[in-house]
Amino acid sequence: MYIAGEWVGAIGGTTFDVTNPATGEVIGSVPDGGSADAEAAIGAASEAQEAWGATTAATRADILYRAWQLMNERHDDIAHLMTTEQGKPLKAARAEVTYASDFLRFFAEEATRVMGQWMPSKRSDQRFLSMRVPVGVVAAITPWNYPVSMLTRKMGPALAAGCAVVLKPAEATPLCARAVFEVLIDAGVPAGVVNLVTAADPRPIGEVFTSDPRVKKLTFTGSTAVGRQLAGAAGAHLKRVSVELGGHAPFIVFPDADPIQAAKGAAALKFLNAGQACISPNRLYVHESQAEAFITTMIERVGRVKAGNGLDEGVGVGPLVDEAAVAKVEHQVDDAVSKGAAVPVGGHRLSEAPFDRGHFFAPTLLTGITDDMLIRREETFGPVAPVLVYDDVDTVIDQANDTNYGLAAYVYTRSLSTAINAIEALDFGIIGVNDVNPTSASAPFGGVNDSGLGREGSAEGLGEYLETKLAGISLR
Ligand code: ADP
Repeated sequence: MYIAGEWVGAIGGTTFDVTNPATGEVIGSVPDGGSADAEAAIGAASEAQEAWGATTAATRADILYRAWQLMNERHDDIAHLMTTEQGKPLKAARAEVTYASDFLRFFAEEATRVMGQWMPSKRSDQRFLSMRVPVGVVAAITPWNYPVSMLTRKMGPALAAGCAVVLKPAEATPLCARAVFEVLIDAGVPAGVVNLVTAADPRPIGEVFTSDPRVKKLTFTGSTAVGRQLAGAAGAHLKRVSVELGGHAPFIVFPDADPIQAAKGAAALKFLNAGQACISPNRLYVHESQAEAFITTMIERVGRVKAGNGLDEGVGVGPLVDEAAVAKVEHQVDDAVSKGAAVPVGGHRLSEAPFDRGHFFAPTLLTGITDDMLIRREETFGPVAPVLVYDDVDTVIDQANDTNYGLAAYVYTRSLSTAINAIEALDFGIIGVNDVNPTSASAPFGGVNDSGLGREGSAEGLGEYLETKLAGISLR
């Protein structure tokens, strides 16, 4: 762990192991922190806060810019570590490191563009000045599925805004978190400004993060159930809260779309990170006029996706994070099949050698999905593409909106008016139009409803770490 500018063990002296999900091998061990460690980290951040908040934006920008350079210099090593610890194919790990470093550069630039306003008053002898100030100490909890970029997406803007940070990464991926901290430390982030607490049991840390009065903001990315609980606990102490939670993305192929392009897009998107992404499409709505071409292309594409160790050449789908993840996907697929779904490709876990020591599920295509199936509503987080054929264009948006989530949605159409109508009618925070990657450091990422609160990335993402202070000035 990294607290007050030192690499330290847990106060209790214990550690926990980190394993490679493709092979089951132990690849490292990290301190197993508890409440006292979390409190020490918050204490360090709290002491560092005032001086860090008082540095110039240019100083903070220079440090973030240097961190961007260092992450790029260490690109290959970090990507390799990510594949070994998290499982995603090396190509995808490389793409994530680039995405992660993009946040460092973007917020280095954005740090210098935080401005206030000079405002008129009704009184001729009064002026108003508003300014943007750091919210104070930020507590961050991050997930394992994007174990590097989710850290920079939070710490980039927090540091740019002038906030000190305490961060608890997911228990499956603490080594990636360590690599991100090494980058920030080597870039010159002062002691106490960033603090890392690792723990096998996240609950005591969450309790301290949400209740300690020195923490002014909680930012969390993970499941809706945990996010709801933590946001509630932090809300009870009137802390600011940003939570980026689950999703259940619809992917709509309209009758005028190119079904081959749409299928290629869906296949590429669905198997990214083995489907372990909150913006992964969970329902592929295909108009009946396009169904044959779409499904034929999907069968061919999904059939070609190779599962395996992400370090091996040509592997498109790595392992899932753990056995529970495989069991959940298997349960959803079995439930769908028992209720009449067809399985043209895959449909089962991979347990024979060379998959026997990891957590693998075969790339899967399901057709004939109906409303009563679990997969229709539950987030899957696995390499399963479920297809629903529809006939009524007028009701497909309503079907797409029929979810408690509201993160990402995708539409494929060649008509501008169909696209614009869909963008306006879809109740989601992010909409891809003939585009399977509607994300960037410069664009606001976040959802509505059970998908969370707040936005990350873009100037809005920086605003999440800033408070407005107003001065009313009398000229008398
Ligand atoms: P996922 O399904 O992505 O594993 P989680 O919400 O369980 O989602 O995990 C996301 C992050 O939240 C991880 O860092 C995990 O350790 C943390 N976490 C899980 N449960 C709690 C909790 N009760 N209190 C604080 N953090 C938690």
